[in-house]
Amino acid sequence: MKANIGRVIEGDEIREASGNASEWGRRVRELRDEQGYQILTHNDRADLKQGQYFMVTAEPDARFVFGSRGISKETRAFVLERNGYTCQMCGLGASDPDPYRAGRKVRLVMGHIIDKSKGGEDTPNNLRAVCSNCNEGLQAISPPKPNRLELLKQIRRATVDDQMHVLEWLIAKYGHLRKKD
Ligand SMILES: [Zn+2]
Repeated sequence: MKANIGRVIEGDEIREASGNASEWGRRVRELRDEQGYQILTHNDRADLKQGQYFMVTAEPDARFVFGSRGISKETRAFVLERNGYTCQMCGLGASDPDPYRAGRKVRLVMGHIIDKSKGGEDTPNNLRAVCSNCNEGLQAISPPKPNRLELLKQIRRATVDDQMHVLEWLIAKYGHLRKKD
């Protein structure tokens, strides 16, 4: 599949490439859901027909790994996007280096605000993006939300380069809300 990035791939081609393995469909789902390869189907893009696949990038992306089963792909994508692809407990983002796993990037999973054992549901308003470390309780304390003035003071004193980084991040998260004129 890596050789066919950016092209519509037919399910039959994958089956043939896999040597007619009967499990090829499941394997594709594993690549997507467990390893984070961005493989789109007709559920993701209206111009794809059932049985067609579209591989977006050659590298797996932690943002697309499914943390737990049972939550729909749409819900997951919605929550990740709403939370700006950042852990809502410690603030690390999906492309930041993982502080507990050298050389790895932070992996985001779905966390429940009200735990499932306490009746919490798999709905967007009860879900938030958390990194696997916070989810596993490795980072026991969730720091308090920064005070707005303190945060602005930090940003104002930062280097232009860092300020531009903040700007890019905010545009990526909120750019769609800005009025086009
Ligand atoms: Zn975290």
